[in-house]
Amino acid sequence: MASKMLGKLETVFSYMAHFFLQSWPVHRPGILFLADHAGRLLKIIPLQDRQTWCPSCFPYLEGDTIADDSAAVPMRALRTGQITTGEADCPDGTVRLGAFPVKENDGTVRAVIGLIYPAADSDLDLHSYLHGLEPLILMGYDAYIQHATSEIVMNVNRYDRSGALIKSLIKQIAAIIDKGYCSAVKLSDNGTLLPQERLTTEGQEKNATHLAQILPRFLDKPIKPMVLDDDRTVIFPVYCEGRPLTALFLHIPPEEADCRYDVRDVAFLQEVGEKVSYSILRAAIADELRHDARKKDLLYQLTKKIQASIDVNDVLEEIMNSIHQFYPYLDAELFLTVETNTTLPVKPLSFQSGESDVSVQAYLEGRLVVSKNDAQGRPMVVIAAPLLGKQGIYGVLQLTANELVSVSDNETAYISILAETAGTAFENAQLYQQSRNLIRELRLINQMAQQLNRSLNLDEILQFVTKTLLETFAAEYCAILRRMDDDTDKLVVISSSTPEHVGKVVSSQEGPLADMFCSKQAMILAQPEITPFSLVPYTSLMAVPLLREAEVTGVLLVSDSRPHYFSFDDYKLLEIFGQHTSLAITNAMLHNEVERMVITDNLTGLYSRRYLNDRMRQSLEQDPFGSLILIDIDFFKNVNDTYGHQVGDEVLVQVANVIKHCIRETDIAARWGGEELAVYLPRVDIPSALMIAERIRSHVEKETVPTVTISSGLSKWDRQYNHNMSVENIFHHADIALYEAKKRGRNQIRLASHG
Ligand code: GH3
Ligand code: MG
Ligand code: MG
Repeated sequence: MASKMLGKLETVFSYMAHFFLQSWPVHRPGILFLADHAGRLLKIIPLQDRQTWCPSCFPYLEGDTIADDSAAVPMRALRTGQITTGEADCPDGTVRLGAFPVKENDGTVRAVIGLIYPAADSDLDLHSYLHGLEPLILMGYDAYIQHATSEIVMNVNRYDRSGALIKSLIKQIAAIIDKGYCSAVKLSDNGTLLPQERLTTEGQEKNATHLAQILPRFLDKPIKPMVLDDDRTVIFPVYCEGRPLTALFLHIPPEEADCRYDVRDVAFLQEVGEKVSYSILRAAIADELRHDARKKDLLYQLTKKIQASIDVNDVLEEIMNSIHQFYPYLDAELFLTVETNTTLPVKPLSFQSGESDVSVQAYLEGRLVVSKNDAQGRPMVVIAAPLLGKQGIYGVLQLTANELVSVSDNETAYISILAETAGTAFENAQLYQQSRNLIRELRLINQMAQQLNRSLNLDEILQFVTKTLLETFAAEYCAILRRMDDDTDKLVVISSSTPEHVGKVVSSQEGPLADMFCSKQAMILAQPEITPFSLVPYTSLMAVPLLREAEVTGVLLVSDSRPHYFSFDDYKLLEIFGQHTSLAITNAMLHNEVERMVITDNLTGLYSRRYLNDRMRQSLEQDPFGSLILIDIDFFKNVNDTYGHQVGDEVLVQVANVIKHCIRETDIAARWGGEELAVYLPRVDIPSALMIAERIRSHVEKETVPTVTISSGLSKWDRQYNHNMSVENIFHHADIALYEAKKRGRNQIRLASHG
């Protein structure tokens, strides 16, 4: 088994040659050469300055192999491992030859240093000379090692980043030791390996290296200096001022079967390791400062983002970026339990046992969880940090390493902070959304209340509510239904975004409505319909009952074909809508009732005198002409006196009914005074009015029981002839005509003189 000397032969030789030259007589020519174990010439040095001597029996250049015959001396030294001397005859004179074997620690001859010079003045005892040189040559080797070490220290001092420094260091060590590979693995504060931060001179993919194969044996224990695996693995942990920095590894892969490290290699590694420790510490501290500064900067940026933006997506992206930057060996995944607009890949947190067990645990316990396990023989580390806000947990940030990783408390603390930052971002966004919704609600309710209070007109209210429903919920369909008075199991559409639906009747027992009628509560459906609705097909539907003294009097309904279209906030808002609408509709209906009561006479159901006046005034403005019949019951006092006031009232109603039957809908019959009635006929001329008055007169005479008769005065107006005609005027004329009718014997009609 070979164990090689440290360093490249040629380099080591140049150090040795230095000592050789020092002892060689200055004036004497000669040639010093280095040949490897196969006799190949690696280096040829003339021993005299500006030497011209060159024997024809040494015709070699560097790279040539020494022939076995002529140069029997060096070859013999190679074979025997002994200092060898001899003479040879050359055409240009006899030469003397000497050879000094260069041996490994175990005695193996690795190379030979040879000497050839003219024998002429051969007062030199070559054999003793070479023996005397032995300690000098060994000194040369030591000098080489010292020099190589200090050179490495100088070189690495140029770097102020650990990565570049370590890379350069292991490369230089490997060049000198020239066996296997040199690697370095960062040490944690307690002296254990941080396998994710490793560098090696191996050229393969990171996880396939020889280093990756040997590392698992050394995890979880502080690293001590070790030589193991039949001297094929050497480990030296570098410490500085008591602080663990990095573990240097020398390791020979199985392919290089015939090779091992010896004491010189171990000593060299140790020497270099100790000498570079300050440089490594300096770089490590600089790294940490930079790292901390970057982390702080990032946290600052994140905090700024959270304050400046309510976009959760922004914050999440920033967090994922920073994890990628700081922990390139970790795969980051987001598990969310809330909905968000993020464009990042997000997974829902599944509570069924499975891969994300660690995340579920972190979520449930609200703390960071680190788990180490083996996934199909490969080490795996999972870190799960809950996205913790002040009011809840919004998901989990899960980091997975599919390789050897050791995460310090410092790092987990930082990851926790990142995750909590995300939690805060969610919280802020939610609060913001909530307050926005609240403002939207308040504004709408305010608008609605204002608008509804402004109007007592039912049609206006229905129109407004329909429009507001459509706008507010951006839904495809909406309708207002009213429970029918005569059939309370049915609802009639009184307003709808689809105008053709007005008047449609649906049953209160239909699928989506039945429950609501029972519970008198608003309802929301988000799935495709189970029971079809005859009014409109739907996927999402919200409905709220309109209540009047705890009675369902109608329904507000919005629907859409998209699933899950309405949010919970929408639902709450519709509830409020329902309350306001119920009130407004009730008010409008009460108002209609009161208004009807004001314009009609209670006893006869005819219009009131005020209403008649108003309508006549309108007609005077709008119409070209019109007629007025003023009616008075004849001898009505007698009816009262004979049959009583009650019967008098009944007769009055009979007369009123006769009048109603004799006129058209556009004509206005009113109770003018006690038993005086009036009919205004817009756009009716005197001949027609006369006909109507006559019809009324004859019907009253025939149909009243007890029989009464009436007298009528008729007057008319025509824009063509009468300007500035007033209601009072028309009445006045009719009154005069009525008086005439009475005077002339009653039960007759008289025309006003001007008409
Ligand atoms: P004529 O008009 O033919 O001259 O005789 P008349 O008896 O009808 O006399 P007048 O019109 O002056 O009297 C009206 C009477 O009608 C007086 C009042 O007792 C009676 N009357 C007025 N309003 C009502 C009413 O609402 N109900 C009843 N039962 N009687 C009324
Ligand atoms: Mg009268
Ligand atoms: Mg009368």
